Amino acid sequence: MSKEYDLVILGGGTGGYVAAIRASQLGLKVAVVEKGKLGGTCLHAGCIPSKALLRSAEVFATTKRSEEFGVITKDVTLDFLKVQERKNKITEQLYKGVQHLMKQGKIDVIEGYGRILGPSIFSPIPGTISVEMNNGEENEMLIPKNIIIATGSRPKSLPGLVIDGEYVLTSDEALQMESLPKSIVIVGGGVIGIEWASMLHDFGVEVTVLEYADRILPTEDHEISKEMQRLLKKKGVKLVTGAKVLPETLEKGEGITIQAEHKGETKSFTAEKVLVSVGRQANVENIGLENTEIVLEKGYIKTNEFFQTKESHIYAIGDVIGGLQLAHVASHEGIVAVEHIAGENPIQIDYSLVSKCVYSSPEVASVGFTEVEAKEKGFTVKVGKFSFRAIGKALVFGESDGFVKLVVDEVTDDLLGVHMIGPHVTDMISEAGLARVLDATPWEVAHTIHPHPTLSEAIGEAALAVDGKAIHA
Ligand SMILES: Cc1cc2nc3c(=O)[nH]c(=O)nc-3n(C[C@H](O)[C@H](O)[C@H](O)COP(=O)(O)OP(=O)(O)OC[C@H]3O[C@@H](n4cnc5c(N)ncnc54)[C@H](O)[C@@H]3O)c2cc1C
Repeated sequence: MSKEYDLVILGGGTGGYVAAIRASQLGLKVAVVEKGKLGGTCLHAGCIPSKALLRSAEVFATTKRSEEFGVITKDVTLDFLKVQERKNKITEQLYKGVQHLMKQGKIDVIEGYGRILGPSIFSPIPGTISVEMNNGEENEMLIPKNIIIATGSRPKSLPGLVIDGEYVLTSDEALQMESLPKSIVIVGGGVIGIEWASMLHDFGVEVTVLEYADRILPTEDHEISKEMQRLLKKKGVKLVTGAKVLPETLEKGEGITIQAEHKGETKSFTAEKVLVSVGRQANVENIGLENTEIVLEKGYIKTNEFFQTKESHIYAIGDVIGGLQLAHVASHEGIVAVEHIAGENPIQIDYSLVSKCVYSSPEVASVGFTEVEAKEKGFTVKVGKFSFRAIGKALVFGESDGFVKLVVDEVTDDLLGVHMIGPHVTDMISEAGLARVLDATPWEVAHTIHPHPTLSEAIGEAALAVDGKAIHA
């Protein structure tokens, strides 16, 4: 059976399903091919489930220190199955929401595995999509005018470090754990590794992080990494930076032992489980790219600024094209691609305006250049910093660690980057994002009167601090 469409989207993750909604708004006849569940990694194995677990960990940790707030609790214990149940319920609710949106937009959802075919009786150019149906029925043939590849990514491991799902896990398996281990070694101190380190520590697990770079969160501003390192260590998380894990040394016995080279010595680390969080790789295999002229670069699909591949009617967005592998980036890329298909002349994405968040405790959020990046780009920079310690609302929350840092061009006064670590900063970064989009100066940020008492006052004070005018410093 064959069906014709204006657009077929391969993969119904955050990138794919948002692109489908935008296409439907623009009057395109659109279908999404999804082999698993609509919502993809973000909804089922990423953003949402991990944040649900982080929230339970935060509640548990806060309850344990409730006496500080004058709230006396006894025998605080954890029911991890209930924690998982809550996480699954949230995911399920959102999943239903996405299914509803597909119906509302009259978007065909084809449940199966899609592959792009070469020129065929259906089409003289590569682009027919053959779908191996999940229900075992005969393959469907979709004949689209345009295609968006949004097949996402999957966890990577180190060569030789085999994921067995029981002792050696990635975030995919860790999210499904029915009970917590007593101890864990996390290989990789990037965003996912640090979120898990923070969460598992707050749940009471003994955590060791082994990071190859000389600092955790190596893509963040140096001062943010340093502060996170200090705060996690203070909590009791063991952090070993500059550690080269030797996968071949992994031994399973009473627990798992793995060795790493660190400061010229080989050291052993033992725990009940190992969590590997060393990055993600694009799902580019077995989707029919060989039937097209599409080019890969370092394992990711290469596109132009409007996400067209070398086949101009085939676009690619989201994790499968690399860059910032974030849900909000995938969905925005999807919108730009669809608007380009519809001839809407969309604005190109400036990735230096994208906010990035780490949902650990404390949280981290940033937008724009780090201080080092700005200097490397040739800017002469000045910096404004303000600590949450002097912010009333942070003291009220009982969470006054961390700071806001503004990186500013000394010559033009342009805001180059904003970096935050502390309470609820992931909900505060959008102000900085807007300031960057509007090309605001620190003066304009400070001139935006921040309500008192709020955590956002730290942004206003940091803006004043750029020229030494912070009030509560
Ligand atoms: C633990 C974890 C936490 C994360 N937390 C955050 C966060 O807090 N914030 C954030 O912004 N990002 C977060 N991310 C990243 C985010 O999940 C991804 O950037 C986002 O999901 C990418 O969207 P996508 O549409 O490109 O791909 P995906 O969401 O991976 O979707 C791809 C979809 O394509 C389907 N598919 C693949 N191949 C085929 C095929 N041949 N046929 C049919 N269907 C196919 C898959 O089943 C999948 O549903 C997290 C990731 C992880 C792993």
